[in-house]
Amino acid sequence: MKALLQSVAVLLGRTPPRPTPEDISPRVREIHELQAMPMNREQIRDARAEMVSRPQTWRRRRWAVLIAVNLLFVLSYHLDIQLVEGALTGSRFVGFHMADVNSALQVMLAYRHVVLNLLIGVVSVSLLWWALGGRTFCSWVCPYHLLGELGEIIHLRLAARKLVKNHTFDRRGRTVLWLFFAVLAFVTGYTVYETISPTGILSRALIYGPGLALVWVVALLMFEIFYSRRGWCRYACPIGLTYGLVGVLAPLKVVHNIGQCHNDGACRQVCLVPHVLATTIRGRAKTMNTDLGADCTRCGRCLDVCPTSSLSFKFKGPG
Ligand code: SF4
Ligand code: SF4
Repeated sequence: MKALLQSVAVLLGRTPPRPTPEDISPRVREIHELQAMPMNREQIRDARAEMVSRPQTWRRRRWAVLIAVNLLFVLSYHLDIQLVEGALTGSRFVGFHMADVNSALQVMLAYRHVVLNLLIGVVSVSLLWWALGGRTFCSWVCPYHLLGELGEIIHLRLAARKLVKNHTFDRRGRTVLWLFFAVLAFVTGYTVYETISPTGILSRALIYGPGLALVWVVALLMFEIFYSRRGWCRYACPIGLTYGLVGVLAPLKVVHNIGQCHNDGACRQVCLVPHVLATTIRGRAKTMNTDLGADCTRCGRCLDVCPTSSLSFKFKGPG
């Protein structure tokens, strides 16, 4: 229960707390002491050298799925095969109502009543994303995630040449924005967030053709490339927070094993949400195996770069 509440608190913006010595199991304490020995530093160097040629297996799989899902919407519309009707924000899949959880909440708040079709869609989609891990939606389906990853590659190249500098923000801002847009929908009767959601804008642009709203998406991308690495998804997007909450008790987890870990931090360098990997910092793991928190997007980047395979996907029981 404590771990669950901590996962929610970190999702909402809290900094992961350091464990007290009493929190750490005796076996894990021994491992922490071993990991601090100089010999292990050499092992890390060797492992890093090996890592350079590792293929980005999970990234490739994920990009393929993301493109395929979005293509399904596009082809379904243009070929009129009626497999999927609508866009990511709201659709029908072989007749079943599906609705993006965040959009549906906005609509119900704006209408101030529960719309039955939307409720069916929300329940179906919530169950699906709960089973798959919540924020799995972000990294495996959201079209802006792919754009953001490409922007991140450019940002990192520019940063390596010292042409740009990364600026960070307080992660609690995302929770404030989530509440702000929820209240705004309720007060104004309009789903204001939908007009600026890069997820919805891109999905609709792909299916129905580009519109003026794409200028906003380009502006966001420029902001991420030149000012703040993955700024939107890290610090602002209310959809990411909604799916994080959906996935708090998800059965699909990324699990960290301290027994294999060299604390070299390669995972934290590539992760969109490095706070979920606090357990990989030297001295921070409490138990042999730690489930990563709800903000983890299950993107698999950390699995791709970990030189010692200390991180893995596990399908566990709920909670
Ligand atoms: S945080 Fe928002 S924009 Fe980023 S991937 Fe998730 S839903 Fe898409
Ligand atoms: S912890 Fe790993 S799987 Fe989770 S978001 Fe970070 S890189 Fe992706």
